[in-house]
Amino acid sequence: MTAVVDTAWEMVVGLEVHCELSTATKLFCGCRNAFGDVPNTNICPVCLGLPGSLPVVNRRAVEYAMRIGEALHCTVEPSIFHRKNYFYPDMPKDYQVSQYDLPINVRGWLDLPDGSRVGVTRAHMEEDTGKTTHVGGGGRIHEAGYALVDYNRAGVPLVEIVSDPDIRSPDQARAYVSELRAVLEAIDVSDVKMEEGSLRVDANVSVRRAGSDEFGTRAEIKNLNSLRSLQRALEYEFRRQIGLLEAGQSIVQETRHWNEEEGRTASMRSKEEAYDYRYFPEPDLVPVEPSEAWRSEVRSSLPPLPAERRAALAAEAGSSSTADVAVVVERGLDTLVRAAIAVGADPERVVTHAVHNLAVEGAEHLDARRFASLVKLETDGKLTATQAKKVLSEMLERGGDPADIAAALGFEAMDESALAAVVDQLIADNPAEFDRLKSGDHKVMGFFVGQAMKATQGKADGKVVTALLRERASS
Ligand code: ADP
Ligand code: MG
Ligand code: ZN
Repeated sequence: MTAVVDTAWEMVVGLEVHCELSTATKLFCGCRNAFGDVPNTNICPVCLGLPGSLPVVNRRAVEYAMRIGEALHCTVEPSIFHRKNYFYPDMPKDYQVSQYDLPINVRGWLDLPDGSRVGVTRAHMEEDTGKTTHVGGGGRIHEAGYALVDYNRAGVPLVEIVSDPDIRSPDQARAYVSELRAVLEAIDVSDVKMEEGSLRVDANVSVRRAGSDEFGTRAEIKNLNSLRSLQRALEYEFRRQIGLLEAGQSIVQETRHWNEEEGRTASMRSKEEAYDYRYFPEPDLVPVEPSEAWRSEVRSSLPPLPAERRAALAAEAGSSSTADVAVVVERGLDTLVRAAIAVGADPERVVTHAVHNLAVEGAEHLDARRFASLVKLETDGKLTATQAKKVLSEMLERGGDPADIAAALGFEAMDESALAAVVDQLIADNPAEFDRLKSGDHKVMGFFVGQAMKATQGKADGKVVTALLRERASS
C-alpha cells in the first residue's frame, strides 16, 4: 500500500456508508427485496408512488436498523421519517423517504483493529431508489442513446451510517469500511457485497495544515465501489487539494465523481444544502418508537462482535502481535485458537499456525484437541517447525491424529544424542568452518544448520542443532 506521507498537511475524512438491508421485503410495501431479478417484477403501487397508495413501515427493517445502532454503540432514539424532495428518473415519487433531524441511531463509535476509534454521528433509515441504465456510449450518461429504468430496487431498505470526521489516512478509511462490513455481516443485516451495491461508500475529504485543529472545506466523492477505489480516490483527492492550496487557490465545496479508469476525481455538481431538499415530515407514516423491552431484546440477540472477539483472544494469546490477533478473528479462527490454548497449547505457536498455515477453507472445523496435540509435539521438540506444518496440512486434508500422521510421514522424533552424533561428525568434516564459529563468526552457523538438515533429511530441529554447536564452540 502506498502511504500518503506529507508532513506539512493532514487529511481529514468522514465516510457515509449506505447499507442495503437483507430483509425479505421492501421498507414500506410487501414487494420482494432481491438483487438481480427480471427488471420491474418486484413492484407495486406503493414503491411506484402511485396516487392513493400508502406506505407501512417494515418491522423487520426497523429491527435491523436497531441491530446496527446497538452494534455501533449508538443511542437508539424515537425517530420519524421525512420526505427529501428532488427529481431523479429512478425515483418515481420525486421524493425519497429518509430520516433527517430525528434519526433512529445517534452518537456511536467503531473500534478498528489498530486500536483507533472512529465516531459514528448517526445511522438512519431510508429507502433506496431504482436503477437507471444508460444504453449506448459505453454507459456514460451524456453519450447514451436512451436510458432504461428498473424499479425493483425502489423502496429497498437502507441504513446510512455517517462517521464523524475522525479518519486521517486512506489506510484508516479502508480499515473502517472493512471493520464496518465485518460488523454488518456478523449481525446478519446485510449481504455486504460492494460489487452488487449492497454497501456503498461516499467519502468527504478535506485537508489542513499539520497541527491545525480547524477543519478545511470538504469535497464529497461519490462512486467508490471497492476498497481499492476508496483508497485511490482519497490519495488522489489529498494531493489535488494540497496542490490547490499551495498554489494559493481555495477548495470549492462540491460533489465529485471518482473515475476508476482515469484514476482521478472530477467535479459533478456544487454541494447541495439541506434546505435545497425542502425536507418535511412524512405525513403518511407514524413515528418509530421502539420500546425499551424491544431494544434490550435486540441488544441481547447480538453475537460477539469482531472488536470484542479480538480483545478476548488478545487476552489469551500471550505476546502475539495485534495484527496477528486481528487476522485470526477476521478468518473466523478465534474459537478454534482459543480452544487449543485452553487445553494447554503454546499460545504464540497456535496463533502463528492460524495465521500462516490455516488460511484454507474449513480450517475453523479442525479439532481443537488435535490441533493442540500437534503444537505440543512441536514445543516438546518432537517435531520441527517444518514437520509440524506438513502434519498440519495433512490433518486439514484428511483428518487424523497428529502423532499417527507424523509417524506415517517418517517424522519420528530425533533424540538429542542422535543429533549430537550428527553435529560432531559435521564438526570433524568441516574444521575450517568450525574454527570460524569458535572465533565468533556466527554467519557460519547457517551453514552448519543447513548441513545438519541435509544429513537428517530435514528431521533435525534447527534450534537444538544451534544449541549443540554453541555449546561445542564455547568449550
Ligand atoms: P451533509 O449532510 O451535507 O452530507 P454532514 O455534516 O452530515 O453533511 O457531514 C457529512 C459527512 O462529512 C460526515 O461523515 C462528516 O464526518 C463529514 N465531514 C464534515 N465536515 C468535514 C470536513 N471538514 N472534512 C472532512 N469530512 C467532513
Ligand atoms: Mg451527505
Ligand atoms: Zn412495492
